[in-house]
Amino acid sequence: MKVVINGAGIAGTALAYWLGRLGHGVTLVERAPALRTGGFVVNLWGIGYDALERMGLLPTLLDMQHTTDALRMVDQAGRTRGGYPSSVLLKLAHGRMATLARSDIAATLYGALDGRVDTRFGDSITAIEDDGARVRVMFEQAAPQEADLVIGADGLHSRVREYAFGPQARFEYPMGCHVASFEVAGYRPRNGNAYVAYTAPGRYVARFPMRDDRMLFFVLLRDEHLADGTPRDLAGRQAALVRALTGIGWESTAIVSAVEQADDIYFDSISQIRMDRWVQGNVALIGDAAACPSLIAGEGAGFALAEAYVLAGELHRHGDDTAAALARYQARLHAVVARKQKHAESLAASFVPRTALGVRLRDYTTLLMRLPVFPRLLMGRYFHDELTLPDYGI
Ligand SMILES: Cc1cc2nc3c(=O)[nH]c(=O)nc-3n(C[C@H](O)[C@H](O)[C@H](O)COP(=O)(O)OP(=O)(O)OC[C@H]3O[C@@H](n4cnc5c(N)ncnc54)[C@H](O)[C@@H]3O)c2cc1C
Repeated sequence: MKVVINGAGIAGTALAYWLGRLGHGVTLVERAPALRTGGFVVNLWGIGYDALERMGLLPTLLDMQHTTDALRMVDQAGRTRGGYPSSVLLKLAHGRMATLARSDIAATLYGALDGRVDTRFGDSITAIEDDGARVRVMFEQAAPQEADLVIGADGLHSRVREYAFGPQARFEYPMGCHVASFEVAGYRPRNGNAYVAYTAPGRYVARFPMRDDRMLFFVLLRDEHLADGTPRDLAGRQAALVRALTGIGWESTAIVSAVEQADDIYFDSISQIRMDRWVQGNVALIGDAAACPSLIAGEGAGFALAEAYVLAGELHRHGDDTAAALARYQARLHAVVARKQKHAESLAASFVPRTALGVRLRDYTTLLMRLPVFPRLLMGRYFHDELTLPDYGI
C-alpha cells in the first residue's frame, strides 16, 4: 500500500515504523522544519509500554530515562505538605513504567525508521480528495500524490481531522486549564532528584531535574488566570506566565526569571478530542488527532504507540481489505480510550484546585499514597488498561 501520514510526532513515527517494516510505501510529512526537540517528560506504562517493547526499542529508551526519587508537594514557604516516593507509581505499574522526554521517544522512533520511509519536513497536507478507491493528497510544498490510505497523526489541532471529519470545535472538549512547559540551565535550588510542585489556587507549578544541570518546568493554569486566551508566540507565552506566576509564593521570583530566560515554551489548552469514529473512507486518525485524552488522563503518548501498533497489525491481518482493517482498529480501541477520557474529567479538579482549602486537602491526600492499599484505591484505575495488545506476529 501507499500510505501518507501527516505528523511526525509519536503516533505518526510509530505507525511509519510498523508500516515501513511491513513493506508498505510510506510518506511521512511533518510541518516543522526538523524533528522537534525540547518539550516535556512523559510516563509510559500499560499498553504504551508494551507497544514500545514490541518495537524492540525499550532497552534503548530505558537508558534515556529521567527518573526522580520522589514527588514532593510544597507550600508557600517550601515546606513539604504532601507527596510520596516515585517507587509507589512504579509498583502500581508492576515495574513496567518509563519516564522519558517526549523528544527522546520521537527521535528514537525516527532513528528506527532506518531509511525505509520517505520523510518530508517543512510540509503539510492541504487537501484530500477521496473517491472511495484512491486518495489524492495535496501538499503545501510537494507535488500532489496518489495514496491508498491517508493518516492524520497531526496532534490535538489536526488538519487532517478538519479536512475529513469537520471543524476542531465539534470534537474538542476544553478542560478549563492550559499547560506550559519549558527548560532552563543552572536553575537553583535543585533539591537532589525530586519532582517538586507548588499550587496556589488555580495555578500549579512544578520543577523536574533533568540531565546536564537542566531544569524542566511544568505549569498548569486555570483559564481564569489567562487574560487573552492561548498565547501563540514566545513573547506572549512569557508575558502570560509572568502575569500568572508573579507573587504567588514559593520560588515564584526565580521561576519568573526562568520564564524570561526560556528560549522555547510549549503552551496549549488542555483539551480532549472526542469523536464517534476515527475512520472516514480511506482516511483514518491516530494519536491525539483521534482521541487526545489530555495530560490529565496521562496516557496520550502510550495510546499513540498502542494505536499505531494495532492499526499496523490490523492492516497486516486483513491483507487487501483495508476497510475491515480500519473498522477493527477503531473497534478494538475506541471504547477503551473513551472510558479513560471520561475518568479524567473527575481528575481535573484535583490537578489544580481553585481554593487554598482544596490545595491543602489535595496535598494531604497524596500523603496517603505512602500507606499500603491507598495507592491502588486512589490511582489503580489510572494505571489499569482494559486491553491487552493482540499478537499480530509482526
Ligand atoms: C505537559 C504534557 C505532559 C504529558 N504527559 C504525558 C504522560 O505522562 N504520559 C503520556 O502517555 N502522555 C502524556 N502527554 C500526552 C502526550 O504527549 C501526547 O498525547 C502525545 O504526544 C500524542 O502524540 P501524537 O503523535 O498524537 O501528537 P504530537 O506529539 O502532538 O505530534 C503531532 C505532530 O504533528 C505535527 N503537525 C501538527 N500539525 C501538522 C500539520 N498541519 N501538518 C504536518 N504536521 C503537523 C506536529 O508538529 C507534531 O510533530 C503529555 C502531554 C503534555 C502536553
